[in-house]
Amino acid sequence: MDTIALAGSIIARCHAELSERIVPGVSTGEIDEFVEKFIVAHERAIPAFKGLYGFPGSACISLNEEVVHGIPSTKRILCEGDIVSVDIGVQLDGWYSDSARTFSVGLISEEARALLDVTSLALAAAIKATVPGNHVGDIGAAVVDICEDTDYGIIRELVGHGVGRELHEEPQVPNHGLAGDGPLLQEGMVLAIEPMLSAGTPRIKTLDDGWTVITADRSLSAHFEHTVGITPYGPRILTSA
Ligand code: MG
Ligand code: MG
Repeated sequence: MDTIALAGSIIARCHAELSERIVPGVSTGEIDEFVEKFIVAHERAIPAFKGLYGFPGSACISLNEEVVHGIPSTKRILCEGDIVSVDIGVQLDGWYSDSARTFSVGLISEEARALLDVTSLALAAAIKATVPGNHVGDIGAAVVDICEDTDYGIIRELVGHGVGRELHEEPQVPNHGLAGDGPLLQEGMVLAIEPMLSAGTPRIKTLDDGWTVITADRSLSAHFEHTVGITPYGPRILTSA
C-alpha cells in the first residue's frame, strides 16, 4: 500500500500543478505533455495509461460532454467556461495508482459548478463507505444517496475497480448499488473509486475514434477518482499529496 501511495502522491501533486495550468487557450495535448514530463521526472515512475490497451496519451483528458478516455490533442483548445477531466495513472516499482479530477476552465456556469461539487461530494461519501466490514454495494449506495435529490445521471456502464499489480483488477466497483450487496471489503484491499455523473442522461456512447466516451445527450459530465486503501482505521486515500 505504501508504494501505491508514493505513486499516488505523484498524481496528486501533478493535479495540483495542473489546477494553475488549466486556463483558456491551453490545448489538451499540452496538458498531456506536462503530465508525462511531471511523471517521468520522478525516478522509476511511468505513465500507466500510455500504451495501455493502445491508448496514445499519458492522461485521459475529457472535455464537457466527454465522460472518460478523451485523447489529448494539440488541436483541442480549452475555452473559458469548459470543464475538463484529467485522469492519470502512475506505475512505480510494479505498483499502480489511479486518480481523476474535473477542473473548471476560467469562469464556469453555476450549473457546471454544481455538477462538479456534487460529483466530488459523491466521491467523498463513497470513500467514507470504504471501510472493513462494508460491502462493495455500500460504495455505490453512497453515490446514489448523494445524487438522490438531483436530476443528475449516474453513469452505470463504467465502474471503479481494484488496483495493485495491475491498473484494473477485481472487484468491479459500480457507482450504484445496495448497502450490504457484493464482495466484502477487507483490510488491505485497494480500490479505485470513481463516480462519473452527467447533468442529463446516464446513457453514454463511444465516438468513432474508439476511445472517447460521451453522454448520449451531450450533457456535461464530471469525474472524480481516488485510489483508496482499506485499513483497520478506515479508508486511506492513496492519491493525496
Ligand atoms: Mg482513472
Ligand atoms: Mg480508474
